[in-house]
Amino acid sequence: MSERTIKIGGFQYRLRFVSSHSLDGKFGQCNFYSTTIDVNAQADPEQQRATIVHEVIEALNYHFELNLKHRQIQSLEHGIHQVLTDNPDLLEHTNCELYTARGRRQ
Ligand SMILES: [Zn+2]
Repeated sequence: MSERTIKIGGFQYRLRFVSSHSLDGKFGQCNFYSTTIDVNAQADPEQQRATIVHEVIEALNYHFELNLKHRQIQSLEHGIHQVLTDNPDLLEHTNCELYTARGRRQ
């Protein structure tokens, strides 16, 4: 199981790639109390990326009390995942010093 962290809304989430079995076959899940996002390591890589976007939106929805319906979260997942996938250098070729100064470009 590989693991890293993502900061979401001021919280440090653990991002873990776990077995399909431990997720009961789901693509992923977000636990707001343990600040953990689990992604199905057996899912195809494209699906894993979409799942990460989905679970990040779930966390933002919870912490910022956005009251998004699950259907809205799914639509945002597909839209944001598509933009990031079709424009992989989107955040790298800007003149925004803020990102480079804080070392966010990774
Ligand atoms: Zn969901």
